[in-house]
Amino acid sequence: MEIRSMEFKSTASAKLADVSLQGKLRQAKGKFVDMRAAAVSEFNADGGDFEATREAAKDLRNRVLADLDLWLERFETEATRRGASVLWAKDGEEACRLTVEIARRHGVRKATKSKSMLSEEAGLNQALTAAGIQPVETDLGEYILQINDNEPPSHIIAPVIHKSKEEISDLFARTHGQPRKTEIGEMTREARQVLRSHFLSADMGISGGNFLVAETGSVALVTNEGNGRMVTTLPPVHVVITGVEKVIPTLEDLALLMRLLPRSATGQAISNYVSLLTGCKADGDSDGAEHMYFILVDNGRIDVLGSEFNDMLRCIRCGACMNHCPVYQTIGGHAYGWVYPGPMGSVLTPLFMGIERALDLPQAATLCNQCGVVCPVKIPLPELMRTLREKQLTGGLRPWLERAALRLWAWVAMRPRIYALATQVAVRYLKWLARGEDGIRHLTLAPEWTRGRDFPAPSGETFRELYARAQSPMNRADAAPGRGRP
Ligand code: SF4
Repeated sequence: MEIRSMEFKSTASAKLADVSLQGKLRQAKGKFVDMRAAAVSEFNADGGDFEATREAAKDLRNRVLADLDLWLERFETEATRRGASVLWAKDGEEACRLTVEIARRHGVRKATKSKSMLSEEAGLNQALTAAGIQPVETDLGEYILQINDNEPPSHIIAPVIHKSKEEISDLFARTHGQPRKTEIGEMTREARQVLRSHFLSADMGISGGNFLVAETGSVALVTNEGNGRMVTTLPPVHVVITGVEKVIPTLEDLALLMRLLPRSATGQAISNYVSLLTGCKADGDSDGAEHMYFILVDNGRIDVLGSEFNDMLRCIRCGACMNHCPVYQTIGGHAYGWVYPGPMGSVLTPLFMGIERALDLPQAATLCNQCGVVCPVKIPLPELMRTLREKQLTGGLRPWLERAALRLWAWVAMRPRIYALATQVAVRYLKWLARGEDGIRHLTLAPEWTRGRDFPAPSGETFRELYARAQSPMNRADAAPGRGRP
């Protein structure tokens, strides 16, 4: 997928001004947050300990990453033992080339797909189309995007969160050539009917993989629609495309992560379909693919392994960080300009695509740490964003004015008297700009700040004045035990 993260500011401004999108984002806002909160409370009320489970999952993912090569080798051995072929791809381009080669080997003309973020990274649909193979997305959200001129997803688990029911209704009527339906159940039935013919005529199925289980050589798929099972069992060829970091050692580890993934993603105790696919169809099996391939993709992950950003590889793609992010909730996912939006995208995009190609993303955060608080594998997202900001600064990638301002601020902050004087001048200036109002409409020195919002006017005493008063002998005496305070 083409990267457009350097257009973040202009796209975000356009999204802010898009009244229709703002309405849809407002509607979605809080839905996932409430569902996750309810699921976590229920888990704890039933005798579970969500915090302890998060800690255990963090440890597990760290242990796997520390020995990633060994677990991948074990996975390859077990998957091969069960008849699958394991292939390795350095990047998205190689993943596409390998997929097209497999398709040609088996005479594939149509490939059904279940959701795979890695195939979005690689631009697989475009590569298949260029090779004369028809890709058909079968996850309902991804299908809607595909028939809407291959629009990119705006959320990793709810790809059409930016679309209204009416827009989808119009799109179906235009594409399917059937009378316009307005009821969601009817629309879903219509899509199911269309997709069913594709399921039955596809020569190859392509899926992602939520986890790869090393001890059995299996892939675990977690979905809420039955399409994943159709894609992986009906066609004679099944190709799994996923990142190398998805491997976990045992089925017991899968059970641990499954306690966290659906609850963090959609607030469900368990997703509707959890499939564990192991090897090719054997004699006596009623269904399953006759040929199974795993394409395990690096695409920047190995460079992150062991670096100061290693924690990011623990990600299990639940989407909780974006559901809780005030920036994502305000601008939606498309502004981030690549496959992964929200806080996880603000870290992953610069890491995978190059820090200089996504300069605004680590800045697109208030560092409120809501994402860090809800992440099921405890990834310190704000810290990682801060480290990326530091790298931009030390690498000379920020605008000279910003670098000069930061240097000046650091110089002032190290000189308490000058700092106190500067604070007084700044407060007086801001009060003068506010002219008695609560907010400042136009900041002369930072006009971009006030272009879309007010800047709060300073009120009351400054922190230094409050602190000085609290330290005065009279107040200290008042605060002594037995002198007027409990
Ligand atoms: S960073 Fe954490 S919260 Fe965000 S998608 Fe990954 S696992 Fe989920």
